[in-house]
Amino acid sequence: MMSWRLDPKVENILKKGENCIGLSEDEAQTLLCLDLGSKEVYALMETANRISREQFEGKGESHFHIGVNVEPCRFNCKFCSLAENAGVFTETIEFPEEEIIGWAKMAQANNADALNIMTTGTYSLNRLIDIGRILSEEVSIPLVANTRDITHREGEELLKAGFVGAYHAIRLGEGKNTPFALEKRLRTISVFKDIGLLWMNCVEPVGPEHTVEEISYLMVLARKHRATYSGVMRRINFPGSPFEKVGMISELELARMVAVSRLVMGDVPKAHCTHEPHVASLISGANLFFPEVGSSPRDRHADTGEGRGRSLAACRQMFTEMGWDPDLPSNCFDSVTPAKTLDAAAGAKA
Ligand code: SF4
Repeated sequence: MMSWRLDPKVENILKKGENCIGLSEDEAQTLLCLDLGSKEVYALMETANRISREQFEGKGESHFHIGVNVEPCRFNCKFCSLAENAGVFTETIEFPEEEIIGWAKMAQANNADALNIMTTGTYSLNRLIDIGRILSEEVSIPLVANTRDITHREGEELLKAGFVGAYHAIRLGEGKNTPFALEKRLRTISVFKDIGLLWMNCVEPVGPEHTVEEISYLMVLARKHRATYSGVMRRINFPGSPFEKVGMISELELARMVAVSRLVMGDVPKAHCTHEPHVASLISGANLFFPEVGSSPRDRHADTGEGRGRSLAACRQMFTEMGWDPDLPSNCFDSVTPAKTLDAAAGAKA
């Protein structure tokens, strides 16, 4: 006869998870190894789902990704369709300012909670700063930069331009599948903390080849450095990807990881992300999607809005179907005031 009992070791870890005190790497590894069809996995997802719904008060977040340029990128990260070696893109495209503004206004009209402005690794930071300034004038949604490693001075320029946060993941296989040293990526996270940019993170891009040790290390690192959010994204293999033979993880495997990372994060995060948008993770602790337009490192279309990228409307529908409310205010930006508002306040006092 089937037993309703959970493995006592797993039960103890889930109790710790439910108290939102975070999990160790060892505990995360135990959960990451659970059989996908087991009762324990569904208990894990239930725990992550419950604490997210309580902590995030039912809010479904959409942070709208705008990839502002396509470029055969000489940094050649192996998982990226924008890499020169991938051979997917042979020409440089910079989306026109009017189109970027149009996307931003459309996102605002559709209640997006943030704009995630992504560039390729060699894109001019000054140009990104200009885009920030322009968008700050055109829309009133929080801006998040998604770009290369930066110095303190560059971070301050981003802040002044209106950015309130920065997405910056230490990728799985950093230094091996990318040319960037892990220490350099970590230094950039310290820069954000020093100057007051919110740090946004995701454990990514996960493929079947990654060990539970590598994955749990990055999950715990996100809690230690107090990421605003840090869920999990799976690697998407573009046609001709060097990882085609290795394959991809399924959405169900992704949902299990999303749940583990949720318990690891404890009471630190303001939201919990997953990518690409799918429903299984919405009952496993995730409440944050990235609808997308413009360039994407997962797509072979220059504008992912015409390819893999999901629309705001599609994300909204998934949230509604799964009992998350996309119309509540965002929980991610309470503690920040955009530079524009600070300037205005200073002007009013003068
Ligand atoms: S991930 Fe970024 S830095 Fe790496 S190849 Fe792609 S665009 Fe370039």
